Amino acid sequence: MRTFRCDNCGHPLFFENVQCLQCGSALAFLPERLALCAVEPVPGNDAGLWRRRTRDPPRGESRQYRLCHNHVEYQACNFTVPATDPNVLCVSCRQTRVLPDLSVADNRERWYRVEVAKRRLFYTLAKLALVSPEPAAGANDGPVFEFLADLPGQPVLTGHCEGVITLNIAEADDAERVRRRISLHEPYRTLLGHLRHESGHYYWDRLVHDRGRIDAFRDMFGDERTDYSRALQAYYAAGAAPANWQARHVSGYATAHPWEDWAETWAHYLHMVDLLETASSFNTRMTVPGSEDGVNEVANPFDSGARDFDRLVEQWIPLTLLLNSLNRSLGQDDAYPFALSAAALDKLRFAHDVIYTPEQ
Ligand SMILES: [Zn+2]
Ligand SMILES: [Zn+2]
Ligand SMILES: [Zn+2]
Repeated sequence: MRTFRCDNCGHPLFFENVQCLQCGSALAFLPERLALCAVEPVPGNDAGLWRRRTRDPPRGESRQYRLCHNHVEYQACNFTVPATDPNVLCVSCRQTRVLPDLSVADNRERWYRVEVAKRRLFYTLAKLALVSPEPAAGANDGPVFEFLADLPGQPVLTGHCEGVITLNIAEADDAERVRRRISLHEPYRTLLGHLRHESGHYYWDRLVHDRGRIDAFRDMFGDERTDYSRALQAYYAAGAAPANWQARHVSGYATAHPWEDWAETWAHYLHMVDLLETASSFNTRMTVPGSEDGVNEVANPFDSGARDFDRLVEQWIPLTLLLNSLNRSLGQDDAYPFALSAAALDKLRFAHDVIYTPEQ
Protein backbone atom coordinates (compact mmCIF):
# COMPACT_ATOMS: atom_id res chain seq x y z
CA MET A 1 0.00 0.00 0.00
CA ARG A 2 1.12 3.55 -0.62
CA THR A 3 2.52 5.58 2.25
CA PHE A 4 0.85 8.88 3.11
CA ARG A 5 2.14 12.33 4.09
CA CYS A 6 1.03 14.51 6.97
CA ASP A 7 -1.16 17.37 5.66
CA ASN A 8 0.31 19.62 8.32
CA CYS A 9 4.06 18.97 8.16
CA GLY A 10 4.71 16.58 5.27
CA HIS A 11 6.11 13.76 7.45
CA PRO A 12 5.63 10.26 5.96
CA LEU A 13 2.76 8.34 7.55
CA PHE A 14 1.71 4.71 7.61
CA PHE A 15 -1.82 3.41 7.30
CA GLU A 16 -2.07 2.36 10.96
CA ASN A 17 -0.88 5.70 12.46
CA VAL A 18 -3.15 7.75 14.73
CA GLN A 19 -0.73 10.63 15.42
CA CYS A 20 2.02 12.30 13.36
CA LEU A 21 5.34 11.57 15.06
CA GLN A 22 6.80 14.87 13.83
CA CYS A 23 4.12 17.53 14.47
CA GLY A 24 1.75 15.68 16.80
CA SER A 25 -1.33 16.15 14.58
CA ALA A 26 -4.13 13.70 15.18
CA LEU A 27 -4.55 11.45 12.14
CA ALA A 28 -7.51 9.56 10.78
CA PHE A 29 -8.20 7.61 7.61
CA LEU A 30 -10.96 9.20 5.51
CA PRO A 31 -12.53 6.28 3.62
CA GLU A 32 -14.07 8.39 0.86
CA ARG A 33 -10.62 9.78 0.03
CA LEU A 34 -8.84 6.47 0.73
CA ALA A 35 -6.23 8.60 2.48
CA LEU A 36 -4.75 9.06 5.92
CA CYS A 37 -5.19 12.73 6.81
CA ALA A 38 -4.39 15.14 9.63
CA VAL A 39 -7.60 16.00 11.47
CA GLU A 40 -8.64 18.50 14.16
CA PRO A 41 -11.73 18.94 16.33
CA VAL A 42 -14.32 21.26 14.82
CA PRO A 43 -13.81 24.52 16.78
CA GLY A 44 -16.50 25.46 19.25
CA ASN A 45 -18.12 22.06 19.03
CA ASP A 46 -17.94 19.51 21.83
CA ALA A 47 -19.97 16.77 20.13
CA GLY A 48 -16.91 14.81 19.00
CA LEU A 49 -16.92 16.23 15.48
CA TRP A 50 -13.69 16.45 13.49
CA ARG A 51 -12.61 17.97 10.20
CA ARG A 52 -9.58 17.68 7.98
CA ARG A 53 -6.66 19.84 9.09
CA THR A 54 -4.94 21.78 6.32
CA ARG A 55 -1.86 23.92 6.61
CA ASP A 56 -3.27 26.79 4.60
CA PRO A 57 -6.47 28.56 5.61
CA PRO A 58 -9.30 26.01 5.25
CA ARG A 59 -10.18 25.59 1.57
CA GLY A 60 -13.72 24.42 1.66
CA GLU A 61 -12.82 21.52 3.99
CA SER A 62 -16.15 21.85 5.69
CA ARG A 63 -16.96 18.15 5.76
CA GLN A 64 -17.41 16.88 9.32
CA TYR A 65 -16.67 13.46 10.73
CA ARG A 66 -16.83 11.42 13.88
CA LEU A 67 -14.06 9.03 14.80
CA CYS A 68 -15.13 5.39 14.56
CA HIS A 69 -16.71 4.15 17.79
CA ASN A 70 -14.03 1.43 17.98
CA HIS A 71 -11.45 4.20 18.23
CA VAL A 72 -13.35 6.16 20.87
CA GLU A 73 -14.04 3.05 22.94
CA TYR A 74 -11.03 0.77 22.35
CA GLN A 75 -8.38 2.67 20.31
CA ALA A 76 -8.81 -0.20 17.84
CA CYS A 77 -9.55 1.75 14.64
CA ASN A 78 -8.37 4.93 12.90
CA PHE A 79 -11.16 5.36 10.33
CA THR A 80 -13.70 8.22 10.32
CA VAL A 81 -17.47 8.11 9.86
CA PRO A 82 -19.28 10.98 8.05
CA ALA A 83 -21.06 13.11 10.68
CA THR A 84 -24.33 12.50 8.81
CA ASP A 85 -24.08 8.67 9.01
CA PRO A 86 -26.25 7.23 11.79
CA ASN A 87 -23.89 4.24 12.15
CA VAL A 88 -21.32 4.83 14.92
CA LEU A 89 -18.94 2.33 13.28
CA CYS A 90 -16.79 3.00 10.23
CA VAL A 91 -17.21 1.19 6.89
CA SER A 92 -14.70 -1.46 7.95
CA CYS A 93 -15.75 -2.04 11.57
CA ARG A 94 -19.47 -2.26 10.77
CA GLN A 95 -18.75 -5.40 8.79
CA THR A 96 -17.60 -7.23 11.95
CA ARG A 97 -20.68 -8.92 13.34
CA VAL A 98 -19.23 -11.03 16.16
CA LEU A 99 -16.32 -10.11 18.41
CA PRO A 100 -14.39 -12.36 20.75
CA ASP A 101 -14.99 -11.87 24.48
CA LEU A 102 -12.90 -8.73 25.09
CA SER A 103 -12.88 -9.32 28.84
CA VAL A 104 -10.61 -12.35 28.26
CA ALA A 105 -6.92 -11.49 28.64
CA ASP A 106 -5.18 -10.91 25.29
CA ASN A 107 -8.37 -11.03 23.19
CA ARG A 108 -8.37 -7.24 22.79
CA GLU A 109 -4.85 -7.25 21.37
CA ARG A 110 -5.73 -10.20 19.08
CA TRP A 111 -8.88 -8.44 17.87
CA TYR A 112 -6.93 -5.22 17.27
CA ARG A 113 -4.43 -7.06 15.08
CA VAL A 114 -7.20 -8.74 13.11
CA GLU A 115 -8.97 -5.39 12.51
CA VAL A 116 -5.71 -3.81 11.30
CA ALA A 117 -5.36 -6.58 8.70
CA LYS A 118 -9.05 -6.24 7.81
CA ARG A 119 -8.69 -2.50 7.15
CA ARG A 120 -5.82 -3.29 4.79
CA LEU A 121 -8.09 -5.75 2.98
CA PHE A 122 -10.78 -3.03 2.85
CA TYR A 123 -8.35 -0.58 1.28
CA THR A 124 -7.37 -2.93 -1.56
CA LEU A 125 -10.98 -4.01 -2.20
CA ALA A 126 -12.00 -0.34 -2.34
CA LYS A 127 -9.15 0.43 -4.77
CA LEU A 128 -10.46 -2.38 -6.98
CA ALA A 129 -14.02 -0.97 -6.68
CA LEU A 130 -15.17 -4.19 -5.00
CA VAL A 131 -16.50 -2.38 -1.92
CA SER A 132 -17.75 1.17 -1.68
CA PRO A 133 -15.66 3.51 0.49
CA GLU A 134 -18.80 5.57 0.92
CA PRO A 135 -21.84 3.33 1.15
CA ALA A 136 -25.25 4.91 1.63
CA ALA A 137 -25.64 6.13 5.21
CA GLY A 138 -25.93 3.19 7.58
CA ALA A 139 -25.54 0.59 4.81
CA ASN A 140 -23.26 -2.48 4.81
CA ASP A 141 -21.13 -3.54 1.88
CA GLY A 142 -18.84 -6.51 1.20
CA PRO A 143 -18.26 -9.59 3.33
CA VAL A 144 -19.37 -9.76 6.98
CA PHE A 145 -16.88 -11.02 9.59
CA GLU A 146 -17.06 -13.06 12.77
CA PHE A 147 -13.92 -13.16 14.92
CA LEU A 148 -14.08 -15.97 17.41
CA ALA A 149 -11.91 -17.71 19.98
CA ASP A 150 -11.87 -21.46 20.65
CA LEU A 151 -13.97 -22.54 23.64
CA PRO A 152 -13.64 -25.92 25.38
CA GLY A 153 -15.03 -28.51 22.97
CA GLN A 154 -15.85 -25.83 20.36
CA PRO A 155 -12.90 -25.22 18.07
CA VAL A 156 -13.38 -22.35 15.61
CA LEU A 157 -12.68 -23.11 11.95
CA THR A 158 -11.55 -20.25 9.75
CA GLY A 159 -13.66 -20.16 6.59
CA HIS A 160 -16.40 -18.55 4.52
CA CYS A 161 -20.09 -19.42 4.40
CA GLU A 162 -22.80 -17.46 2.60
CA GLY A 163 -21.18 -14.04 2.83
CA VAL A 164 -19.79 -14.48 6.36
CA ILE A 165 -16.06 -14.86 6.97
CA THR A 166 -15.15 -16.55 10.25
CA LEU A 167 -11.63 -16.20 11.61
CA ASN A 168 -10.15 -17.94 14.63
CA ILE A 169 -8.40 -15.11 16.49
CA ALA A 170 -5.72 -17.54 17.69
CA GLU A 171 -4.22 -16.74 14.27
CA ALA A 172 -3.35 -13.29 15.72
CA ASP A 173 -0.84 -14.92 18.12
CA ASP A 174 2.48 -15.15 16.34
CA ALA A 175 3.56 -18.33 18.14
CA GLU A 176 0.29 -20.13 17.43
CA ARG A 177 0.18 -19.04 13.77
CA VAL A 178 3.77 -20.18 13.20
CA ARG A 179 3.01 -23.51 14.92
CA ARG A 180 0.10 -24.04 12.51
CA ARG A 181 2.14 -22.90 9.54
CA ILE A 182 4.85 -25.48 10.27
CA SER A 183 2.51 -28.33 11.16
CA LEU A 184 0.53 -27.74 7.94
CA HIS A 185 3.74 -27.41 5.85
CA GLU A 186 2.78 -23.94 4.65
CA PRO A 187 5.55 -21.54 3.58
CA TYR A 188 3.37 -18.46 4.18
CA ARG A 189 0.65 -17.81 6.75
CA THR A 190 -0.43 -14.33 7.86
CA LEU A 191 -3.61 -12.68 9.15
CA LEU A 192 -3.81 -10.57 6.01
CA GLY A 193 -3.29 -13.65 3.85
CA HIS A 194 -6.18 -15.41 5.65
CA LEU A 195 -8.54 -12.48 5.13
CA ARG A 196 -7.55 -12.12 1.47
CA HIS A 197 -8.09 -15.85 0.90
CA GLU A 198 -11.52 -15.88 2.58
CA SER A 199 -12.59 -12.76 0.68
CA GLY A 200 -11.87 -14.81 -2.46
CA HIS A 201 -14.65 -17.23 -1.51
CA TYR A 202 -16.99 -14.28 -0.99
CA TYR A 203 -16.17 -12.77 -4.39
CA TRP A 204 -16.44 -16.14 -6.12
CA ASP A 205 -20.14 -16.03 -5.25
CA ARG A 206 -20.50 -12.42 -6.46
CA LEU A 207 -18.24 -12.30 -9.53
CA VAL A 208 -18.13 -15.89 -10.82
CA HIS A 209 -21.36 -17.60 -9.75
CA ASP A 210 -23.74 -14.63 -9.81
CA ARG A 211 -22.32 -13.28 -13.08
CA GLY A 212 -22.61 -16.45 -15.13
CA ARG A 213 -18.90 -17.25 -15.38
CA ILE A 214 -19.13 -20.83 -14.11
CA ASP A 215 -18.19 -22.50 -17.39
CA ALA A 216 -15.11 -20.34 -17.87
CA PHE A 217 -14.24 -20.98 -14.20
CA ARG A 218 -14.49 -24.77 -14.61
CA ASP A 219 -12.33 -24.69 -17.73
CA MET A 220 -9.61 -22.96 -15.73
CA PHE A 221 -9.90 -24.33 -12.18
CA GLY A 222 -11.84 -27.60 -12.51
CA ASP A 223 -15.31 -28.65 -11.43
CA GLU A 224 -16.24 -27.15 -8.07
CA ARG A 225 -19.09 -29.66 -7.65
CA THR A 226 -16.48 -32.22 -6.46
CA ASP A 227 -17.34 -33.14 -2.84
CA TYR A 228 -15.80 -30.30 -0.85
CA SER A 229 -15.45 -31.81 2.62
CA ARG A 230 -14.03 -35.07 1.23
CA ALA A 231 -11.56 -33.10 -0.87
CA LEU A 232 -10.35 -31.19 2.18
CA GLN A 233 -10.07 -34.37 4.25
CA ALA A 234 -7.95 -35.92 1.50
CA TYR A 235 -5.73 -32.84 1.39
CA TYR A 236 -5.13 -32.81 5.14
CA ALA A 237 -4.49 -36.58 5.14
CA ALA A 238 -2.09 -36.77 2.17
CA GLY A 239 -0.95 -33.20 1.44
CA ALA A 240 -0.75 -31.48 -1.92
CA ALA A 241 -1.29 -33.73 -4.93
CA PRO A 242 0.08 -34.15 -7.52
CA ALA A 243 3.68 -33.80 -6.33
CA ASN A 244 4.47 -31.31 -9.11
CA TRP A 245 1.56 -29.05 -8.09
CA GLN A 246 3.67 -25.95 -8.84
CA ALA A 247 3.09 -26.61 -12.55
CA ARG A 248 -0.60 -25.68 -12.23
CA HIS A 249 -1.27 -24.05 -8.85
CA VAL A 250 -0.12 -20.97 -6.91
CA SER A 251 0.25 -22.97 -3.67
CA GLY A 252 0.03 -26.50 -2.29
CA TYR A 253 -3.29 -25.75 -0.58
CA ALA A 254 -4.73 -24.63 -3.92
CA THR A 255 -4.72 -28.31 -4.99
CA ALA A 256 -7.31 -29.20 -2.32
CA HIS A 257 -10.40 -28.19 -4.36
CA PRO A 258 -11.25 -25.80 -7.23
CA TRP A 259 -12.75 -23.33 -4.72
CA GLU A 260 -9.49 -23.32 -2.73
CA ASP A 261 -7.52 -22.96 -5.96
CA TRP A 262 -9.59 -19.86 -6.77
CA ALA A 263 -9.29 -18.40 -3.23
CA GLU A 264 -5.51 -18.93 -3.19
CA THR A 265 -5.25 -17.32 -6.63
CA TRP A 266 -7.41 -14.40 -5.50
CA ALA A 267 -5.24 -13.86 -2.39
CA HIS A 268 -2.14 -13.86 -4.61
CA TYR A 269 -3.70 -11.28 -6.87
CA LEU A 270 -4.35 -9.01 -3.87
CA HIS A 271 -0.74 -9.56 -2.67
CA MET A 272 0.41 -8.62 -6.15
CA VAL A 273 -1.45 -5.32 -6.49
CA ASP A 274 -0.66 -4.25 -2.91
CA LEU A 275 3.06 -4.93 -3.29
CA LEU A 276 3.15 -3.16 -6.67
CA GLU A 277 1.34 -0.13 -5.25
CA THR A 278 3.85 0.05 -2.38
CA ALA A 279 6.80 -0.23 -4.77
CA SER A 280 5.35 2.39 -7.12
CA SER A 281 4.80 4.83 -4.25
CA PHE A 282 8.56 4.57 -3.56
CA ASN A 283 9.30 5.18 -7.30
CA THR A 284 10.98 1.78 -7.54
CA ARG A 285 13.04 1.11 -10.69
CA MET A 286 14.70 -2.25 -11.13
CA THR A 287 17.03 -4.10 -13.44
CA VAL A 288 17.52 -7.77 -12.67
CA PRO A 289 21.32 -8.24 -12.54
CA GLY A 290 22.63 -9.76 -15.77
CA SER A 291 19.31 -9.40 -17.57
CA GLU A 292 18.96 -7.69 -20.92
CA ASP A 293 15.47 -6.47 -20.11
CA GLY A 294 16.43 -2.92 -19.19
CA VAL A 295 15.02 -0.80 -16.41
CA ASN A 296 11.63 -1.76 -15.09
CA GLU A 297 9.78 1.09 -13.45
CA VAL A 298 6.96 -0.04 -11.22
CA ALA A 299 3.63 1.61 -12.10
CA ASN A 300 0.70 2.02 -9.76
CA PRO A 301 -1.43 -1.06 -10.56
CA PHE A 302 -4.62 0.88 -9.82
CA ASP A 303 -3.94 3.59 -12.42
CA SER A 304 -6.25 2.97 -15.32
CA GLY A 305 -3.32 3.12 -17.77
CA ALA A 306 -1.33 0.43 -15.91
CA ARG A 307 -3.94 -2.29 -15.53
CA ASP A 308 -2.70 -4.54 -18.30
CA PHE A 309 -2.12 -7.94 -16.73
CA ASP A 310 1.05 -8.71 -18.71
CA ARG A 311 2.50 -5.44 -17.52
CA LEU A 312 1.70 -6.30 -13.88
CA VAL A 313 3.54 -9.62 -14.27
CA GLU A 314 6.54 -7.99 -15.96
CA GLN A 315 6.99 -5.84 -12.86
CA TRP A 316 5.96 -8.48 -10.35
CA ILE A 317 8.63 -11.06 -11.11
CA PRO A 318 11.69 -8.77 -10.69
CA LEU A 319 10.01 -7.13 -7.68
CA THR A 320 9.60 -10.44 -5.86
CA LEU A 321 13.22 -11.34 -6.70
CA LEU A 322 14.32 -8.04 -5.17
CA LEU A 323 12.05 -8.49 -2.15
CA ASN A 324 13.33 -11.99 -1.43
CA SER A 325 16.95 -10.96 -1.96
CA LEU A 326 16.53 -8.11 0.55
CA ASN A 327 15.05 -10.53 3.06
CA ARG A 328 17.93 -12.96 2.60
CA SER A 329 20.36 -10.07 3.23
CA LEU A 330 18.84 -9.82 6.69
CA GLY A 331 18.94 -13.55 7.29
CA GLN A 332 15.18 -13.84 6.87
CA ASP A 333 13.23 -16.40 4.89
CA ASP A 334 11.76 -15.33 1.56
CA ALA A 335 8.87 -12.91 2.11
CA TYR A 336 7.23 -14.28 -1.03
CA PRO A 337 8.01 -18.01 -1.04
CA PHE A 338 6.29 -18.86 -4.33
CA ALA A 339 7.26 -19.29 -7.96
CA LEU A 340 4.42 -18.83 -10.42
CA SER A 341 4.16 -21.18 -13.38
CA ALA A 342 2.54 -20.19 -16.68
CA ALA A 343 -0.65 -22.07 -15.70
CA ALA A 344 -0.77 -20.32 -12.31
CA LEU A 345 -0.34 -16.97 -14.07
CA ASP A 346 -3.27 -17.83 -16.35
CA LYS A 347 -5.39 -18.29 -13.22
CA LEU A 348 -4.24 -14.91 -11.91
CA ARG A 349 -5.16 -13.38 -15.26
CA PHE A 350 -8.63 -14.92 -14.90
CA ALA A 351 -9.02 -13.21 -11.48
CA HIS A 352 -7.76 -9.92 -12.95
CA ASP A 353 -10.26 -10.12 -15.84
CA VAL A 354 -13.13 -11.04 -13.51
CA ILE A 355 -12.40 -7.94 -11.41
CA TYR A 356 -12.11 -5.53 -14.31
CA THR A 357 -14.69 -6.88 -16.76
CA PRO A 358 -17.90 -4.95 -16.21
CA GLU A 359 -21.09 -6.85 -15.48
CA GLN A 360 -22.76 -7.91 -18.73
ZN1 LIG B 1 2.77 16.09 10.87
ZN1 LIG C 1 -13.66 1.46 12.55
ZN1 LIG D 1 -10.64 -21.44 1.49
